Amino acid sequence: MKHYRQELLFHTKTRRAYINITEQVQAAIDKSGIQEGLCLVNAMHISASVYINDDESGLLHDYETWLEKLAPHAPVSQYKHNDTGEDNADAHLKRQVMGREVVVAVTRGKLDFGPWEQIFYGEFDGRRDKRVLVKIIGE
Ligand code: ZN
Repeated sequence: MKHYRQELLFHTKTRRAYINITEQVQAAIDKSGIQEGLCLVNAMHISASVYINDDESGLLHDYETWLEKLAPHAPVSQYKHNDTGEDNADAHLKRQVMGREVVVAVTRGKLDFGPWEQIFYGEFDGRRDKRVLVKIIGE
């Protein structure tokens, strides 16, 4: 069995962002040389997510609106976590809802998706260096 590990780096200009990382993950699979196996992609921070869904601008807007309703960023004083001096309690909650990781089958060297599936990096506390882990195993 072969294995391959790579980190993807992000530094968004905005606090929140939704970035399609499918091409970067496929590029990692290409580098790995693995044809049949599994690909794990996970956010390495507890204020960011990796998830799979449609790359449709209306939907991305809907996530933003929905998550802000569930866990509004402001006022930051509404969260106990922010008593520590941080202001990112909402980002922890948004991350919990949107998930930590995805696992996708690799078949004939390609991500084996269902219709319209794309891999996204969801940033909820950006404007600093963040990492995503890609781990591929197979042969
Ligand atoms: Zn925090």
